[in-house]
Amino acid sequence: MTGAGSAGCVVAARLSEGGRYRVLLLEAGGNDSNPWIHMPMGYPKVYANPRFNWMYESEPEPGLMGRRLYQPRGRVLGGTSAINGMVYMRGNAADYDEWRQRGCVGWEWNGVLPYFKKAEDQENGANAFHGIGGPLRVSNQPIRMEIAEQWTAAAIQAGLPAKDDFNDGQQDGAGHFQSTIDRRRRGSTATAYLNPARGRPNLTVETHAQATRILIEDGRATGVEYVRQGVPRIARARGEVIVCGGTFNSPQLLQLSGLGPGDLLRTLGIPVIRDMPGVGAELQDHFNVRCQFRCTRPITLNDVANSPWRRVVAGVQYVVFRAGPLASSGILAGGYVRSDGKLDRPDLQFSCCAFSYAGRDRGGAYPHPFSGFSISVVHLHPAARGHVRVRSADPTVPPAIAFNFLRTADDLRTIMAGVRWVRKIARQPALAPCIAEEIFPGPAVNTDAELEDAIRHDGVSSQHAVGTCRMGTDERAVVDPRLRVHGIRHLRVVDASVMPSVTTGNTNAPTIMIAEKGAEMILEDARETA
Ligand SMILES: Cc1cc2nc3c(=O)[nH]c(=O)nc-3n(C[C@H](O)[C@H](O)[C@H](O)COP(=O)(O)OP(=O)(O)OC[C@H]3O[C@@H](n4cnc5c(N)ncnc54)[C@H](O)[C@@H]3O)c2cc1C
Repeated sequence: MTGAGSAGCVVAARLSEGGRYRVLLLEAGGNDSNPWIHMPMGYPKVYANPRFNWMYESEPEPGLMGRRLYQPRGRVLGGTSAINGMVYMRGNAADYDEWRQRGCVGWEWNGVLPYFKKAEDQENGANAFHGIGGPLRVSNQPIRMEIAEQWTAAAIQAGLPAKDDFNDGQQDGAGHFQSTIDRRRRGSTATAYLNPARGRPNLTVETHAQATRILIEDGRATGVEYVRQGVPRIARARGEVIVCGGTFNSPQLLQLSGLGPGDLLRTLGIPVIRDMPGVGAELQDHFNVRCQFRCTRPITLNDVANSPWRRVVAGVQYVVFRAGPLASSGILAGGYVRSDGKLDRPDLQFSCCAFSYAGRDRGGAYPHPFSGFSISVVHLHPAARGHVRVRSADPTVPPAIAFNFLRTADDLRTIMAGVRWVRKIARQPALAPCIAEEIFPGPAVNTDAELEDAIRHDGVSSQHAVGTCRMGTDERAVVDPRLRVHGIRHLRVVDASVMPSVTTGNTNAPTIMIAEKGAEMILEDARETA
């Protein structure tokens, strides 16, 4: 297996259960011992740290004034689940029913719900939608902050229904988010799944081991070439090769191995094993605009970050009691609305962050030097489709990544509607007294043209990229509904890249669900062929 990320750790742990199959898990990054990974509020420290992060960048985006968008991705045990914002969000029942309608039999809401529950250890207990006793702790916010309470109250005043569980398949409304924080530490898939499995004699984990090519003989995957600490190696697979490199690296590895758009591979001198135009195509992501506000009172996380004294107190609180603001990711609450009543599910998400910040690129993100908070507006179903394409036959050269955000009038209209929703919520009596000033888009931005300009200058990806090894049954699909690569035996892709369309919310929980379901399919198929 290649890649010990959100999906890879789950698959490795499930396949090695029972002791029957030998599993080799290759991870390009190193171990996750750094304390910033595990402290929930530590993630700004790993957001742009090359020790744990691939730190990709997109091609210049024509719809965003030619800006390149920073793309952090975990390069460490746990992958991106070791550096993400820890929001637990499954998406909408209609997302999965749509996957089914597009030919992915078994992936409808009722087909995936058991795997969400199997993964889960829900703090609020089991019910029809939630499970307990699974590896992944799903918890309520470890701290409540006044700014999130006021935001939620204001959203309800603005007309959103109160919502106490965003993970029951329906999402319209406002409320607090749950997170993958486990006893006030980050719950990555390395901590939740891999660590408990590490002692098994049939599981070998190699870190600093980057897969460079899948070996394919007579249409069958037989192993992997990889480089470990500068030394080229080969691992032979008696069973399957399972690729879990994530939305950017899985299509890269397939293309490097001769599975991809024939013309592109030939230009780069990569022998074409199977011409697969769908590999790397159909990159999708959520588009994101952060509305930022200066706060009238010192009730935000900026106030902790900007005061040496409060930083020390917060550090002591966390180290001694695992309590206080550092026990939280700061992404506390949010909501979902439909920009058009005719839609079958929300197309806008709001995430209330108890901080405001400057930067969001390879240089990192930093809190403003004053009290502030932000509301991210997320367009959940943009029409934009991009791609991931190798630029060279050299596996160390990052692939070209393009999103094509804001190339259609509809995509622009929807995100503008989202920003106007945030302004409406900000005017409500519960929140207005907390706001000293709108920092972004800012009071000078009023007309449609001004708002469009501001969005094109500041909008970014939500870092929820999916779709580059899309599951389906049509000729452009890369994997079938059992996640087997079309036309190549004994090769699967199991990670966020297989999603046929991006879900209505953050993508970590859906990726873990895919890995749970994928692992079960792999075991079923192995039993059948035994
Ligand atoms: C900054 C940030 C914040 C986010 N916040 C949230 C959030 O709050 N909630 C949420 O639900 N989602 C969030 N997401 C998205 C979510 O974390 C991802 O969708 C999910 O982790 C993807 O999982 P994956 O298994 O597909 O890929 P990854 O978790 O990225 O795993 C891929 C793994 O494969 C390894 N790898 C890659 N290539 C090779 C190779 N050739 N050889 C060996 N190993 C290789 C990588 O190093 C990595 O460990 C966030 C993403 C980012 C970047």
